[in-house]
Amino acid sequence: MTESVVLVINSGSSSLKYRLLEPDSGKSRIDGIVEQIGERSSPVADHEAALHLAFDRFAQAGIDLDNCGLVAVGHRVVHGGKTFYRPTVIDEALIAKVKELAPLAPLHNPPAVQGIEVARRLLPDVPHVAVFDTAFFHDLPAAAATYAIDREVAEKWRIRRYGFHGTSHQYVSEQAAAFLGKPLDSLNQIVLHLGNGSSASAIAAGRPVETSMGLTPMEGLVMGTRSGDIDPGIISYLYRSAQMSVEDIESMLNHRSGVLGIAGEQDFRRLREMIESGDHTAQLAYDVFIHRLRKYIGAYLAVLGRTDVLTFTAGIGENAAQVRRDALAGMAGLGIELDEHRNTAAATEARRISADNSTVTVLVIPTNEELAIARDCVQAIGQGDG
Ligand code: ADP
Repeated sequence: MTESVVLVINSGSSSLKYRLLEPDSGKSRIDGIVEQIGERSSPVADHEAALHLAFDRFAQAGIDLDNCGLVAVGHRVVHGGKTFYRPTVIDEALIAKVKELAPLAPLHNPPAVQGIEVARRLLPDVPHVAVFDTAFFHDLPAAAATYAIDREVAEKWRIRRYGFHGTSHQYVSEQAAAFLGKPLDSLNQIVLHLGNGSSASAIAAGRPVETSMGLTPMEGLVMGTRSGDIDPGIISYLYRSAQMSVEDIESMLNHRSGVLGIAGEQDFRRLREMIESGDHTAQLAYDVFIHRLRKYIGAYLAVLGRTDVLTFTAGIGENAAQVRRDALAGMAGLGIELDEHRNTAAATEARRISADNSTVTVLVIPTNEELAIARDCVQAIGQGDG
């Protein structure tokens, strides 16, 4: 009998990431990315061409999509609003509702819809499932989810803190419990997802009680190209005094801010090289990134009261030992002590990096959003049948 496989698609405005994998074993059959979709002089005109290109690559690798055990296609959708909080089999009504949510996630939801429409057309015989990046945080406590602004305005315009990277925070917190051999509901956890986009969450007994991203993925930590928290007064100030349009300001905060905005470079490996060659703005960008991260760690220790586990994940969290060291330096008084040898040991698997006498266990756990999405898909289609 062939193993079931799920195709997971993450469709952005100019890129389409794909992975074909076995949800049971977690084994990946093929994965990749098609970039520069729709860009001038790019051979890939649109998302349909991108998916055809992916299918060509499958064929070259000897994978026949019609006979490989494909049971579902999973689509990552960034914003589920208040409507969607569990993996949902896609139909026309869902597509219409995701389109309605576009104003809340103008950069993310429209390309996801394009990916869904194209994939459904090209693979009409299997169920397609939407997995929402906001879902895990749907039941965030009201005190954490509510912005302190005019309540009527907030309600009318659906303004609240939604949180993102939910698939990763949930997966990593579950893996942390499994790694420690403890029930999820016995642990208070902080998860630091540090990649191009970064977010933190506080999770009490498996339920998120705080997260750093808000209405959009712009709030919170300093990121590769996004500012994270800023004084909202900056926006009206720039609008009025610098005569920047709303689009200019939004574009600056999303694409030309964060570490890139300060240092002109967003990749942490190159940022490190720049720092080592004496670049002061690279050092400043790094310091601002670390400072914000430490503020959030302190805040979440207070939100949780008792913290059992703190986990680093995603590209920076999994790989940059120095970021982990600087983020937690001098926190012995808060019960956090790293073991320098464990922190710097070359490894790619889940591991403990705290010292034996650290009250808070510090872990590094590789995230695997595609696997989490694939497993969500299997669950959703199982529920759909029953
Ligand atoms: P995305 O949010 O796009 O999924 P990733 O989780 O892959 O991003 O994280 C990308 C970031 O991880 C980049 O800033 C990259 O420099 C950083 N990174 C990847 N590998 C390393 C490494 N070995 N050392 C330091 N940083 C790394």
